Amino acid sequence: SVALPKLKERRVITVANQKGGVGKTTTAVNLASALALQGLTVLVVDLDPQGNASTALGVDHRSGIASSYELLLGETTAKEAIQTSPHSPRLLCIPATIDLAGAEIELVSMVAREGRLKTALSDAALEEFEIDFVLIDCPPSLGLLTVNAMVAAKEVLIPIQCEYYALEGVGQLLRNIQLVQAHLNPSLHVSTVILTMYDGRTKLADQVADEVRNHFGEAVLRAVIPRSVKVSEAPGYGMTVLDYDPGSRGAMSYLDAGRELASRSAGVVGSVER
Ligand code: ADP
Ligand code: MG
Repeated sequence: SVALPKLKERRVITVANQKGGVGKTTTAVNLASALALQGLTVLVVDLDPQGNASTALGVDHRSGIASSYELLLGETTAKEAIQTSPHSPRLLCIPATIDLAGAEIELVSMVAREGRLKTALSDAALEEFEIDFVLIDCPPSLGLLTVNAMVAAKEVLIPIQCEYYALEGVGQLLRNIQLVQAHLNPSLHVSTVILTMYDGRTKLADQVADEVRNHFGEAVLRAVIPRSVKVSEAPGYGMTVLDYDPGSRGAMSYLDAGRELASRSAGVVGSVER
């Protein structure tokens, strides 16, 4: 008889940084697109009420449809909420609608409020989709939505903008990761750090990059994402930059980052103790 190939373990990665505008959403959707181009199946879970990841992936996120909000409340299943991006059959998305804006408060009084996303994304719930990667796009806060994302994942990916105050707030983020690790999810760790919006013309960008590499060591991807107009234009067309302008530097850098991410195993590097 022929042995069935052993299924690889699905990697669940939370893209987090409570600072807004550092490139969380851009990184989540473009990395997802890059991984899908490698033949992997990727689910993006949009946990930001702004729904920017849903927009960039070209999926419906009008109020009232099955979304991450209903998923957290237990009113829908992953199967019902998953949409396929029009750009790739391997790129899936659970969208966020504006309804999610109230969830942070609604969740407070709920049973097992920190573990609701993990339960909704169980192996059984995702069985038929053969998903290799789940990328969770967090809102710019450390509230219950982000905690749900950290409980559902094993890995945290931190995008850091190559700008002034780049590491501002990162200490607080790491302390929160440690708290979740200690009390709710012992497997959680910072597996990946990605430098975004790098402007090679400035000395500052290099200083920030060096500082981040000193701090996080091997967790930092070698691929650095340049500041590029194409990257910021793409979501306006309901696209990732890999679809919008595949030959651009932004697209190439996300492709490189995706290859690096996929070639690393889930637990190789990264420690929140640093
Ligand atoms: P976050 O999700 O952390 O709030 P976003 O991914 O939404 O951050 O990015 C913030 C803004 O910066 C957006 O307008 C986005 O289009 C833009 N942006 C992100 N990455 C780049 C980049 N590499 N080059 C140029 N603009 C970028
Ligand atoms: Mg965002």
